[in-house]
Amino acid sequence: MNEEIVQLTLLQVIDHELDSIDSEIQGEQEALEKRSADLSARGEAVAKLEGKIENLEKERRTLDMEAADEMAHVKDRQSKMMQVQTGREQAALLKEIEDGKKGVKEKEEKIVAIMEEAESLTTEVEELKNLLKGETELLQNETEKVKKNIEKILKGKKSKEKKREAQAKNLRAPLLKKYDTLRQHRDGLAVVNVLQGVCQGCFMAIPPQRYNVLLRGDEYFDCPTCQRIMYHQPVEETEKEGVIGG
Ligand SMILES: [Zn+2]
Repeated sequence: MNEEIVQLTLLQVIDHELDSIDSEIQGEQEALEKRSADLSARGEAVAKLEGKIENLEKERRTLDMEAADEMAHVKDRQSKMMQVQTGREQAALLKEIEDGKKGVKEKEEKIVAIMEEAESLTTEVEELKNLLKGETELLQNETEKVKKNIEKILKGKKSKEKKREAQAKNLRAPLLKKYDTLRQHRDGLAVVNVLQGVCQGCFMAIPPQRYNVLLRGDEYFDCPTCQRIMYHQPVEETEKEGVIGG
């Protein structure tokens, strides 16, 4: 194979390793961010439930006051009973007293229902808060671990970057520049093999006469479709590498 292609492909292997280091770091960070966002969403849900409990308490206090007022009214009407003379007046008062008692009873039932709801919500909130507390602590521990892991990965990255720097010196400056530009614009893949006349970067066929030139193995040129640097490595060799690689 052409020596420049050999050096380019070696460089690309290192660059791909660097890429996967970067995405490993990103993956670790994203997983943490996701968990942290999940916890804060659940914290908000708990706050919402607490607001609901507060509203129920307010509602209960209002009903308490209303029931007390109504009860006072009932007592007032009961004491009036002694003073009325006619059966008609008595009947009217009795109706008022009955209605008042009924109103008080309804409010008391509502108060009981509200208290029960508030109680079950309070239990729920307490459970959720305990869960959240535990998970927040877990996440803090996890964050520390991830931080240490990332530091370790970054150390590995540094030595790989040095290796990259050394490998880049094996290439002519203009070729290196072209390679770097291609990597930026072609999804990290700048140097590609051509198999059976098809560019392995864009998977388009190249003209047969160009393919014939590549087949000789000592030349390389740009893919007419994706502009990636093309070379030819026979299938047997790539297959062997595939077996070794995995
Ligand atoms: Zn191509």
